[in-house]
Amino acid sequence: MYDLIVIGAGPGGYVCAIRAAQLGLKVACVEGRETLGGTCLNVGCIPSKALLHASHMLHESHENFEKMGLTGAKVKLDWAKMQGYKAETVGGNTKGIEFLFKKNKIDWLKGWGSIEAPGKVRVGETLHEAKNIVIASGSVPSSLKGVEVDNDKGIVVDSTGALSLPKIPKSMVVIGAGVIGLELGSVYARLGAEVTVIEYLDVITPGMDAEVQKQFQKVLTKQGLTFILGAAVSGVEHGTGKAEVKYSLKKDGKEQALKADCVLVATGRSPFVDGLGLDKLGIDLDARGFIPVDRHWQTSASGIYAIGDAVPGPMLAHKAEDEGMAVAEVIAGKHGHVNYDVIPGVIYTMPEVASVGLTEAAAREAGRKVKVGKFPFMGNARAKAVMQADGFVKLIADAETDRILGCHIIGPNAGEMIHEVCVAMEFGASAEDLALTCHAHPTTSEAVREAALACGDGAIHV
Ligand code: FAD
Repeated sequence: MYDLIVIGAGPGGYVCAIRAAQLGLKVACVEGRETLGGTCLNVGCIPSKALLHASHMLHESHENFEKMGLTGAKVKLDWAKMQGYKAETVGGNTKGIEFLFKKNKIDWLKGWGSIEAPGKVRVGETLHEAKNIVIASGSVPSSLKGVEVDNDKGIVVDSTGALSLPKIPKSMVVIGAGVIGLELGSVYARLGAEVTVIEYLDVITPGMDAEVQKQFQKVLTKQGLTFILGAAVSGVEHGTGKAEVKYSLKKDGKEQALKADCVLVATGRSPFVDGLGLDKLGIDLDARGFIPVDRHWQTSASGIYAIGDAVPGPMLAHKAEDEGMAVAEVIAGKHGHVNYDVIPGVIYTMPEVASVGLTEAAAREAGRKVKVGKFPFMGNARAKAVMQADGFVKLIADAETDRILGCHIIGPNAGEMIHEVCVAMEFGASAEDLALTCHAHPTTSEAVREAALACGDGAIHV
């Protein structure tokens, strides 16, 4: 009898299993994939970041090396080798989780698990018993009506297929201007594809701060991506060669078509709960297919919890991890907690885009009086030295209390810089607290301090 069986070994599940084992529980984790790490390590965060890094290096070598006096033979792309580098990165990480499971004496139950009743998990022929069960079954790419994905053919693909295309397409249409579509679209644009992004809404990266959206679209356009916004895709046809994307612009309703060697469907992700047996347990899904949970991640069935992409909230690896740790603590009788107001979101393009907390519009809509401190990277010496001065930091603070409500950054290292604001927000800091904190020079983080100064008496370097 286990104290805990976790179903799914993505960032939610494996972190939950490790924390529970550290707290002295006897733990098993069921995983149907060949390797641990879930979507994130196998076909998500990690392989995409390997390709983003490699394609950025290629882009730098072509665009900026000469400016810095680095001349010589032009760097060429070897796609098979780049795929090898990506696979090695993934393999190193998934093996790392296997090592951590062994170190923490967690049993990996290999296969697909289903819950026969509270406390009973079937994996293949074997029925395992546990005092508690955590569902961390994650998500899969959402489908789009009229579009059939076939990752093996490599013509109409989802994010999984796009990570392993047989060759670099000459042209690519990305359906959906969200995080995944723009990251992978950038990869192929840097590798030489002509990339067109079609988005239903009138803006890219819905939910993001409006000024950041505008700047981000401008920067990506400069990098060669073309955007068709306010367009509804009705279908994709393809034979053996090119695919044809049919869409209509919302403003006139006229049907249009665009041909491309490859179409990436990146219209979001849906919770994956197939085969878990939730209906037998009386666990009803919400309208969008997520598993409803209470504030301790408990489902409607006793002793069964759920976390990560399978439950409502931002579909992010670190949100899943935080819930994994917290639910393990709850099960072990401690006080697990996740602060959903301070979950950063990062887009790993170049420049990176990062945000945490409220946007200016959301804060105003909530009736808050706000002050906004903005600082452009053009005023930051380090950003200029590395030729990445496109972008800015925008800090939102409460006009009366000066408490930081949110931060939005587009610029170099945004994904790292955002964390000082996260820590500040966790401690209930004011913009002045950040402004009074000495920041090393020359760093891009100085731009965060300058934005905080701009919430008060003014930034220095503008
Ligand atoms: P998952 O990682 O989806 O893991 C669930 C696991 O459960 C899977 O391995 C699945 O095989 C297993 N499973 C499901 N059902 C069963 C069953 N019945 N029995 C046994 N095993 C089962 N997020 C970020 O924060 N940063 C990023 O940079 C980022 N980049 C991304 C890039 C791409 C291309 C994609 C697709 C996603 C990206 N994400 C990113 C999102 C991130 O991958 C997910 O939010 C995260 O993986 C969710 O973790 P999870 O543990 O809930 O589920």
